[in-house]
Amino acid sequence: MVVPYTHEPFTDFSKDENRKEFEEALKKVEAELGQDYPLIIGGERIYTDDKIVSINPAKKDEVVGNVSKANQELAEKAMKVADETFKWWRKSKPEFRADLLFRAAAIVRRRKHEFSAWLVKEAGKPWKEADADTAEAIDFFEYYGRQMLRLKDGAPINSRPIENNRYNYIPLGVGVVISPWNFLFAIMAGTTVSAMVTGNTVLLKPASATPVIAYKFMEVLEEAGLPAGVINYIPGSGKEVGDYLVDHPRTRFISFTGSRDVGTRIFERAAKVNEGQLWLKRVVAEMGGKDTMIVDSESDLELAAESIVGAAFGFSGQKCSACSRVVAHEEIYDDLLKRVVEITEEKAKAVAEPNSANTYMGPVIDQAAYNKIMGHIEDGKKEGRLMTGGEGDDSVGYFIKPTVFADLDPNASIMQEEIFGPVVAFTKAKNFTEAIEIANNTDYGLTGAVITNNREHIEQAREDFHVGNLYFNRGCTAAIVGYHPFGGFNMSGTDSKAGGPDYLMNFLQAKTTSEML
Ligand code: GLU
Repeated sequence: MVVPYTHEPFTDFSKDENRKEFEEALKKVEAELGQDYPLIIGGERIYTDDKIVSINPAKKDEVVGNVSKANQELAEKAMKVADETFKWWRKSKPEFRADLLFRAAAIVRRRKHEFSAWLVKEAGKPWKEADADTAEAIDFFEYYGRQMLRLKDGAPINSRPIENNRYNYIPLGVGVVISPWNFLFAIMAGTTVSAMVTGNTVLLKPASATPVIAYKFMEVLEEAGLPAGVINYIPGSGKEVGDYLVDHPRTRFISFTGSRDVGTRIFERAAKVNEGQLWLKRVVAEMGGKDTMIVDSESDLELAAESIVGAAFGFSGQKCSACSRVVAHEEIYDDLLKRVVEITEEKAKAVAEPNSANTYMGPVIDQAAYNKIMGHIEDGKKEGRLMTGGEGDDSVGYFIKPTVFADLDPNASIMQEEIFGPVVAFTKAKNFTEAIEIANNTDYGLTGAVITNNREHIEQAREDFHVGNLYFNRGCTAAIVGYHPFGGFNMSGTDSKAGGPDYLMNFLQAKTTSEML
């Protein structure tokens, strides 16, 4: 009997013993930096000369690992293996697949800080953020395992007296999983295991900035008993390997998390039926956000300010859920802005390499991200009033100060374009209805939050604020698997809800059988 799902608790870093254990985990990982990693195709380790060099974004000259890079030939080999493996894996027992995930969860739980330490090194995550990422990976294992057990017998349908009808869910085929660097463990693992636990085989192409944690994840699954060929690990370039697999006639579905540009490109390419292809491909895409927090006149301003800062600057704003716009009622606009600036300036003192639990914010992921964010900051200086931050330093790592802009026109570029960095912009609304109109005025629809003590306004927002994840009296980040199923509307993606009760249906198709008696 499987116990009911509850989410993995977060580590309390105010406790000495937890900080010490984490420091030890960091030391262990430090001693393992700079190793070479192979591809894994059909269980076989394949080393290539061409490598992806994964670095610590807080310390550019620290190499986290040298990861073998797939080319089209190796991608083809992996596809053949996945296609062959699917022939029997599709008939594997759902219980077997779920058990694998429960075991994987236990393995990660036992070595939790070690995995989080890899996230600190490979993505520059502050400890708290790394800990939450690892907890979420564990949650995905536990939650999707249980969801598969719920779906394994199909759904009830009717039978007439002379027949026996069944309605079962069967897997799709070979899936290509293209995962992001921001939740380098949780989303990479969640998108991969959801496809696997439903009986599909997988080609996993992790983000090029963070391939090492994905290798560590493969080791965990192997230790848990994953048969060879079910998940194949093939880091590589999007242009070369990504496009090739998206276009491949044997690809049955693509599960992508990343930018809007890449997601749209995948969606378009996947729509084309190539020679030898027997199906219309499914695409699950989780793309960007331009997420707004509304602060009402009747509200707890301290709660609002703390929540905005947390949602805007957690992991340097590199979450598609990050708060990048604040719409504040004109009556409280100045007070709120002042308080947000004060808190931000306090936090800005702790922007550094995450060597201790006290680091509030680490770097952004790489030079390209740094340049892009700094470009948006320059636009912001022209479009609005810079209140704090606005500076960066990429000499050692890619550090950008948490930045607050005020007095933006809702249509200004920094109010419309996803920045994916530590930048938040304020605009004023005359009343609550106008605040919602401004909040909805983006191409996206991922997360949003409303800070208010007015019950009617809560109901109004519930109906009219068009986002996939809407939160009241809290920040707009930090969704928990099984508690806040996550995914957005409009250009934020394909409306799927990761960590939700129907997510696994993305990777299943229903089969009706009817036997005459
Ligand atoms: N699920 C995360 C959150 O609620 C965001 C995921 C993402 O950035 O892709 O903050």
